[in-house]
Amino acid sequence: MMILTKKMIEIRNILSKVGQSSALTLPSIVVIGSQSSGKSSVLEAIVGHEFLPKGSNMVTRRPIELTLVNTPDTKSEYGEFPDLGLKTTDFTSIQRTLTDLNLAVPDTECVSDDPIRLSIYSPNVPDLSLIDLPGYIQVVGQNQPLQLKQKITELCDKYIQPPNVILAISAADVDLANSTALRASRRVDPRGERTIGVITKMDLVDPVRGAGILSDKQYPLRLGYVGVVTRAPSVQALFKKGTGGNLTTVIAKNENSFFSAHPLEFGEGSGSNVGTLNLRKKLMHVLEQTMSASLQSTHDAIRQELEEATYEFKVQYNDRPLSAESYLAESLDAFKHSFKQFTTEFGRPQMQEILKTELDQRVLDLLALRYWNKPITDLSPPPPEADTLADLPKSDPDNLYWHRQLDASTSALTKLGVGRMATSAVAGAVQSHVERLIAQSTFANHPFAREAITNAASNILNERFYSTSDQVENCVKPYKFEIDIEDREWSNGREHVSGVLKTELQACQGALASLENVVGGKRKLKEVMTFVDKCRKGDIPIEGEGRMGAGGFSAALLEKGREAVFLRDRADIINMRLLAVKSRQCKDLKNKYYCPEVFLDAAASKLAQTAVLFLNVELLSEFYYNFPRELDMRLGRHLSDDDIERFAREDPKIKRHLEVIRRKEMLELVLEKMESLRQFEGRTEKPHRGAGENK
Ligand code: GDP
Repeated sequence: MMILTKKMIEIRNILSKVGQSSALTLPSIVVIGSQSSGKSSVLEAIVGHEFLPKGSNMVTRRPIELTLVNTPDTKSEYGEFPDLGLKTTDFTSIQRTLTDLNLAVPDTECVSDDPIRLSIYSPNVPDLSLIDLPGYIQVVGQNQPLQLKQKITELCDKYIQPPNVILAISAADVDLANSTALRASRRVDPRGERTIGVITKMDLVDPVRGAGILSDKQYPLRLGYVGVVTRAPSVQALFKKGTGGNLTTVIAKNENSFFSAHPLEFGEGSGSNVGTLNLRKKLMHVLEQTMSASLQSTHDAIRQELEEATYEFKVQYNDRPLSAESYLAESLDAFKHSFKQFTTEFGRPQMQEILKTELDQRVLDLLALRYWNKPITDLSPPPPEADTLADLPKSDPDNLYWHRQLDASTSALTKLGVGRMATSAVAGAVQSHVERLIAQSTFANHPFAREAITNAASNILNERFYSTSDQVENCVKPYKFEIDIEDREWSNGREHVSGVLKTELQACQGALASLENVVGGKRKLKEVMTFVDKCRKGDIPIEGEGRMGAGGFSAALLEKGREAVFLRDRADIINMRLLAVKSRQCKDLKNKYYCPEVFLDAAASKLAQTAVLFLNVELLSEFYYNFPRELDMRLGRHLSDDDIERFAREDPKIKRHLEVIRRKEMLELVLEKMESLRQFEGRTEKPHRGAGENK
């Protein structure tokens, strides 16, 4: 039994995953021949199925690396394209795929040296490794590149190098002297030591002449010639009882009747140098011998590769073991650890601060709307009823107007939808903290994991969003009717709002300063502001309003002027209100109508505190509990091996590290297999007749 070839083919498959270097290629049988010499017919007769692309338009454009694997214990036959992840028992579909893959090479290039790998598993095929190449052409056709002949020759030359065996196909009806295949093999194998000659179409020549070709003396080959008749039989013949639809059987029968009809020329009962079955045997035998001969050199090459991989592993990676799973597990642990740390740092006080900052803005908006409102939307004089600085509550806090203003502001504050606002502010903060944790983790370089983690967080937060919002809204409901502020709350509010007002004041001043820059200086801005002021007071008639050049200023400049006047007035008011807040009157909660800023601030704090209590229970604790579990789900148990591998390889450094380890492991495995093969060979070694034997 041909065990060596089978084992070597297995080894070759492992090697192809390591990333093949030419030193590691194991011998194959390379099939060359002119177009129409019958090359495809021979290969199909060996395989027992029609599966190769057919047609006149250069249908073989890429090398086809064909691995035949004998599976004696099965009935089914199937083909596999390992690079496409495609398996099929339908040989027509294999033919179609091969045609598509070949025709994908554009007409302008015509050939490509990128091989198509195809394995065929069947109880009816021998263990063989064959490479089909584009047929040599005589003339370059239309739309084909002029250098096509040259390109095909170069491609074939690449493959017919040692240790490969050359299967040179020539048709019987063409003079051997004109056989391109034999001429090519001569160039690389001048002594004819590793070439098998196949003479096709033996039925087209006179048997005497046919037999003469097979014992050719002009182009002697040590492995000899085999004559075949491999014309595809009719469909009826193929499906005749007893053939099982197998092409090899039908062709062999056909050949048998042809050759045995001429016993004088081809020997009784068909000699060993005719017929597809004999060809198959010869191929197996020769390949086995060649494999055996190259066992030592391949073994040495693999050992050297292994030494290099081991050295790289030591020097670059300190012999540190790593697998995609362990990398993921470690990364996940580290991330969960950092998350745990975060949970101790982000709790009620932090939420309180976030909510308060959010509510501070709303308080400022309300104050601006109800208290600081000085409309200067155009250049027209102010309407007599509009609020002015003089109308602000600096005196007479008992005035009913100010009571209503504060009540309306408080009501607006409590009814602004605190539930939604608070939930979304906290959820947003949590989500951005998670993003920060990702960015600081090893997951930063892994788009897939980033997305999984981000989605895990947003899923949990989204799920809780509406119920949390509702809960919070319910809890602040009593404040919509009444807010009781205590002395301590008042004094905290007073202190806090001073800070908020100061910040706002600085923002106004900052905006004013940048306006100065925009218009080209303090003086320029002052001029246009003075003009705007005059207009507002009615000192200047509104003529020219809206047109270019009012007061000699451009419309754009006037716009900036209005903005600046607004900011200046806003700053004046805030300044004034800061003084008021700091004044004695505002020390006392009784003067709340005099100090709306303090009251609204204290109210906002109460809202925030209440909201935080519920956010903590409804949102944060839930999140802290569920998030690590969700991470385990998404990045742990549920990932397939392929996903984990893809994940790890997203990081180029990890990818390289994994590759070195994998390469090392594969080479170790291969070497182990080779060593046991060598021992096996040593035990079974027969008197050696050499690979060049002509049976
Ligand atoms: P390729 O271009 O070298 O792959 O050649 P094919 O296998 O496609 O064969 C070319 C032509 O020769 C086809 O029409 C085949 O039917 C025919 N052919 C192949 N082998 C034989 C044979 O042994 N005898 C005869 N008479 N025709 C054959």
